[in-house]
Amino acid sequence: ARIGAPPFAGRTTREWQAADASHFLHPFTDHQALASKGVRVITRGEGVYVWDSEGQRILDAMSGLWCVNVGYGQESLIEAATQQMRTLPYYNAFFQTTTPAATALAERLAARTPESFRHAFFCGSGSEANDTVIRLVRRYWDLMGQPQRKVIISRLNAYHGSTMAAASLGGMSAMHAQGGLPIPGIVHIDQPHYWAHRHGAAQGLDREAFGLLAARWLEDKIAEVGAGNVAAFIGEPVQGAGGVIVPPSTYWPEIQRICDRHGILLVSDEVVCGFGRTGQWWGCETFGTKPDLLTFAKGVTSGYVPLGGVMVGERVARLLIEQGGEFEHGYTYSGHPVACAVGLANLDLIEREDLVARVREDTGPYLAQQLATLMEHPMVGEVQSCGLMAAVQLCRNVPLREAFAPEIAIGMVCRRHCFDNGLVMRAVGDRMIVAPPLVITRGQIDEMFALVRQALDRTLAEARAAGWL
Ligand code: PMP
Repeated sequence: ARIGAPPFAGRTTREWQAADASHFLHPFTDHQALASKGVRVITRGEGVYVWDSEGQRILDAMSGLWCVNVGYGQESLIEAATQQMRTLPYYNAFFQTTTPAATALAERLAARTPESFRHAFFCGSGSEANDTVIRLVRRYWDLMGQPQRKVIISRLNAYHGSTMAAASLGGMSAMHAQGGLPIPGIVHIDQPHYWAHRHGAAQGLDREAFGLLAARWLEDKIAEVGAGNVAAFIGEPVQGAGGVIVPPSTYWPEIQRICDRHGILLVSDEVVCGFGRTGQWWGCETFGTKPDLLTFAKGVTSGYVPLGGVMVGERVARLLIEQGGEFEHGYTYSGHPVACAVGLANLDLIEREDLVARVREDTGPYLAQQLATLMEHPMVGEVQSCGLMAAVQLCRNVPLREAFAPEIAIGMVCRRHCFDNGLVMRAVGDRMIVAPPLVITRGQIDEMFALVRQALDRTLAEARAAGWL
């Protein structure tokens, strides 16, 4: 079969796989393993579905990579990009210049974010946004006359990106093990992960009591580092790549109190949680914090073109603007007009379709209801969701909440059954996660859960046959 629309037509799946194995180094990939399996070639998308080069339709329950929030094939975004490319495909914002698209998006985001945010700094990705946070936070404390306040506290198993600085902010041990990370000045506390701590710190505590305990790990770390040396605390409202870890409701308010008590800046990484994913526009609204800085990417353009940025709260912005002089930081693509034009069209669409309220009042609760029924499955130890992001924790022995042996990689087994059956569900260790496009309908949620149940049953059958249980 000839695959792909021009100019990509004319090769079979096998030919694409061979070319790919020869030339494309993929992100976060074991290349030898990939070459032996052969990469899957995705050729087109429509709504919540993508198609591969063999013509199989796949329900994309991960929105690409947590980004295609408005689904595939939205004409208004395509049109906005096309028009902007015709008019002015690029201009920089360095030399006393701007473009209408960049200024309009900054203005629009200022109106859409919590009251304290009036300024946006743009970049190309979530990683660059978090790098920018480090620059801003340290600049802020320099201008405050407290240059010794350099330490940023983050969390184990957090994901903040893949550049040297963003990977350091993140708490992924496998990433830190390659390349001598974290860079100096970044320290980590443990995560508010009730399931992961079930046989340890959370034992005997209900979720709310555990939330308070986990928040107080921040207080302990501040004491250890010395409050006068701590610049900021950063966290994802719900840890996404870490496994959709929805914190207890007590966690974030206590984190806010601790930051306030010590005058520490609070940074909300909203790269995944922003733009309606949690049922409010921002995860910090869902969990009740008032961050000083807020990073975004992905959902700002629904992934149609790359864009990221930082919303800078007045506490930092005022000082930077009034006393800072030149801020020595920026990217060629800070305020890229095509990306910003798509961002504006994306916001129009989210508002026109009232997607945030739909997630909060309709599809989010419906997904939670469907998810709860999975608790009857003999391999499901815990389910959690927040808006349209959800996790299903696989375990070997439900009453004892015992984990499968790590070498079995049960999550990967389940992921294979999903993919073979037309569903993209991601595995994070033994935790299966979904974050479907915000345009998903109730009918499509039913379809998604039918596929999830089949994948769980097939995984269970394989586990029984292999004697893993
Ligand atoms: N922060 C969070 C919370 C993320 O999930 C990600 C990406 N998955 C990033 C930052 C990094 O974004 P990017 O891949 O665009 O650099």
